[in-house]
Amino acid sequence: MTRSFRPSRHRRPGGPKTNAEEIIQTARAAAQTRQQNYRARSLEIHGWICAKCAREFDESNLHLLTVHHRDGNHNNNPPDGSNWENLCAYCHDDEHSRGILADYLAGTK
Ligand SMILES: [Zn+2]
Ligand SMILES: [Zn+2]
Repeated sequence: MTRSFRPSRHRRPGGPKTNAEEIIQTARAAAQTRQQNYRARSLEIHGWICAKCAREFDESNLHLLTVHHRDGNHNNNPPDGSNWENLCAYCHDDEHSRGILADYLAGTK
């Protein structure tokens, strides 16, 4: 039985958000921005090409090109790109042990 325990209260339009909601949204947006920033920079510096298999990418499949951190540290993002390597999803998966990549990409490692 899956009935909602929430009382059917009318939401005040434009009412204040709870702090928790705001904090989660802010953190999520910041993490996303951080990730997009270094990815964009790495693509700019190293080009739209896999450093391992030399596969080239364009707008249609660019999402398959990922940024690998040479030292495995997500937070080490020098602006000169020296810690980044652009790897296609397959080579990136290969570079890491199976199963670890998911954690790595999710930033939980
Ligand atoms: Zn590759
Ligand atoms: Zn990697």
